[in-house]
Amino acid sequence: MDDKKLFTKLLGLEPPWFITEVVYNETDQCIDIYVDHEPHIRARCPVCEKFYSVYDHSPERVYRHLDTCHMQTYVHVRQPRVNCSEHGVKQIISEFGENGSEMTYAFEVHVVRVAKECSIRATAGLCGLSWDQSMSAMKRAVARGQARKQHRLPQRIGVDEKSFARGHKYETLVYDLDCATVEFVGDNRSQESLESYYKQFDIEQRKQVQAVAMDMWDPYIAATKAYIPDAEKKIVFDRFHVMKHVLKAVDVVRKKEHKELSEKGTDILKGTRYLWLWNRENIPAWRKEEFEQLRTQDLKVCRASAIKENLRHLWNYRYEANMRRYFKSWYFWATHSRLKPIINAAQTLKTHLENIVTYARHRITNALAEGMNAKIEKVKRMACGFRNRAHYRMAIYFHCGGLDLFPRQPVQPALKFRGA
Ligand SMILES: [Zn+2]
Repeated sequence: MDDKKLFTKLLGLEPPWFITEVVYNETDQCIDIYVDHEPHIRARCPVCEKFYSVYDHSPERVYRHLDTCHMQTYVHVRQPRVNCSEHGVKQIISEFGENGSEMTYAFEVHVVRVAKECSIRATAGLCGLSWDQSMSAMKRAVARGQARKQHRLPQRIGVDEKSFARGHKYETLVYDLDCATVEFVGDNRSQESLESYYKQFDIEQRKQVQAVAMDMWDPYIAATKAYIPDAEKKIVFDRFHVMKHVLKAVDVVRKKEHKELSEKGTDILKGTRYLWLWNRENIPAWRKEEFEQLRTQDLKVCRASAIKENLRHLWNYRYEANMRRYFKSWYFWATHSRLKPIINAAQTLKTHLENIVTYARHRITNALAEGMNAKIEKVKRMACGFRNRAHYRMAIYFHCGGLDLFPRQPVQPALKFRGA
């Protein structure tokens, strides 16, 4: 078999396309394949799909293809243009690679597959691309995925904030809690940021939202109330964020007490931070004895930690009325603890109670997105090479957006023989 025949097979070329030349470039260790079409053909308008005779040709395009053994392989082709009576002069839909891409469909699929598994830098290294080339392949993949994605608001969404880079820059993330995907990444954690997501949908679509899990964060509450009908019944403050407020209070109590005790020359609270923050059942076996020992002493932090531990039961109730009843007794206990940070936390929770007990009806938390969080952290780690925020955001959509990222070769051939 000669090399033209071989590469015709390998590329899956069908007439009227044919290979004019295969050049083996020893110096650069690459292979250049030149493709042309037979003369008597008609070409398809990319918009209305009608066939016309060839108007002229676009300048030569070079597509990187899958390597041939260890040699980088390039396909050179000039694509015909048509002059459609309705749509004017148009280039045919390329059968080699997407318009705007310098890769064949097959090679681009390969790059996207690699990029799904590793960092941009590693993708570039493994595929023999520059950093910019592998970045543009990811960008195209995201654009493709987003164009294919159905425009709709998920029924159950999670709103979360994520810190970005060092310092205190934040991103607002919106999750589809049922599909475990990131639907939106917005600048900072302001009301406008979340509203810019909601604004993409009309009122009918926004009505479809059944529940929204979020932190007790006023800008998110305001945005959701402004755009989601009946939001007050749909917002559910994420239980882990709620618990975080109480955990913080426990920690403040410990710090203060530790300081007081140290001044009196006792350091029994040294190194005990997590003993008070961990869920009881998560205290490691080798520290259980130490913990039990501390519990026998009359410590403020011990009381604070018990109050925290008891609040966890709140989410076991299946009915709102029971949640309210339980909260009432917990609140009484917490506010009579004589521990200022705990009292403050309890009061914060009380002001937000209406949307804590909505949990009974919706039973959502952003923990559905916890797996997602791990993924985002991984993206962050892989993102050491990100030069800016837009790139970071793009990578989140790429890895966590649940998007259909792969390019697809057109099913319909763009050329046919005249009279066929
Ligand atoms: Zn047309």
